[in-house]
Amino acid sequence: MIEVSKKCIGCAKCVPVCPFAAINMIDKKATMNEACTLCGACVQVCPVQAITITREEASTRDLSGYKGVWVYVELSEAGDKTHPKKIKQVTFELLSEGRKLADRLGEELCAVLMTDKDHNYEKELGAYGADKVYLVEHDELFEYNTDIFSTVMVSLVTRHKPSVILYGATIQGRDLAPRVASTLYVGLTADCTALSIKDGLLLQSRPAFGGNIMADILAPNSRPQMATVRPNVMKMGEPVHGRAALTVRESAKLDKSLRRVKVLERKIDHGSGAVKIENANVIVSGGRGMKTREKFHQLEELSKLLGGVVGASRAAVDLGFKEKTHQVGQSGTTVSPKLYLSFGISGAVQHIVGMKASDVIVAVNKDPNAPIFNVAKYGIVGDAHEIVPKLIEALKKGK
Ligand code: FAD
Ligand code: SF4
Ligand code: SF4
Repeated sequence: MIEVSKKCIGCAKCVPVCPFAAINMIDKKATMNEACTLCGACVQVCPVQAITITREEASTRDLSGYKGVWVYVELSEAGDKTHPKKIKQVTFELLSEGRKLADRLGEELCAVLMTDKDHNYEKELGAYGADKVYLVEHDELFEYNTDIFSTVMVSLVTRHKPSVILYGATIQGRDLAPRVASTLYVGLTADCTALSIKDGLLLQSRPAFGGNIMADILAPNSRPQMATVRPNVMKMGEPVHGRAALTVRESAKLDKSLRRVKVLERKIDHGSGAVKIENANVIVSGGRGMKTREKFHQLEELSKLLGGVVGASRAAVDLGFKEKTHQVGQSGTTVSPKLYLSFGISGAVQHIVGMKASDVIVAVNKDPNAPIFNVAKYGIVGDAHEIVPKLIEALKKGK
């Protein structure tokens, strides 16, 4: 239920932001009509907090009409006419996982795409498993913005009632999902590492208590059930080219006054063209066992010879051996390279959760009982300070 209190000063700021033309000014007071979807956009702009939305108690809601698994489609930040924005890999990972969930539920898998310009993205989304693409095309969707994107998402949810929504645990997903959750008054499980279906509900698993236990979370009383998943956690399936998704175009009436944060300047850090750790095929990682910054730097040389990127345990980052952006693990980045080399890392559970999806793990540690050996395909019990220079020498000789 939506109500406008006596505090309303008749400024009419709420009128243009309503995506559903649900507000009329009557006797200098905002009045909502039956087109209101309770999206919350007007609440955000009212300067005197005159609008309140009261949502039904979760336990009294009829949840039977909620059907389908949705995946939020994340596009890269920048694009132009010649280089359109690309769908980020995490979307394909989520579609691959979402496909399995939808099949278990016997429901549709839908992708939710918000963009200023559609570049035939539906083709790729279909290839990765989407049955349907909800496409919202509008000039105001030219870049990610919390207010604009959450308003569109909430209105789509209100209209179509999905049962499950998955978002990437990226900067965008971590911003959007909580906003949608709080507007709809539903739960959200962040950073899930496994998803499955149990008794028709989404079973959301994630590490808890510093990674020492895995928590299984169910949301039986609210819909949609929402989760974020980090990039590289779910395996991306093989695309089936030519598999088509049905495109459902959704209209949105978006007013720029809804945008409370304006980007004044955009500086894109192209770096030195270096590959980001989350996209690297080879990672050479070091831990506290590397002992000093200078010795840690030998890993840079090794990774260059292998065409890889350097990673680090949290202990190594805390000691200043490497920047935080290279930290692998629960409070760092989740990676899944083809080859993960680890030197002087013990293998604490918080590190393992961030790299165990690597194709081949090779670990070097002095301690034969180090837990890193439990996930390593090849383990070398030895001194990293002897082994690293030997590897560098061998690679230089082209062995
Ligand atoms: P240590 O555990 O001290 O291990 C050093 C290893 O080096 C030992 O196994 C030792 O045998 C070996 N070694 C010593 N000398 C040599 C040598 N000369 N040659 C070969 N081996 C040698 N950690 C992360 O990595 N990433 C995270 O994202 C992360 N998030 C966390 C989040 C929370 C909430 C908490 C509580 C902890 C987190 N941690 C994280 C910290 C984690 O628990 C460990 O403390 C950390 O991973 C240990 O780093 P390490 O293996 O480099 O150091
Ligand atoms: Fe319009 Fe949304 Fe406000 Fe309802 S809650 S009046 S749909 S802006
Ligand atoms: Fe009234 Fe607030 Fe709407 Fe202004 S924005 S007309 S004060 S409800």
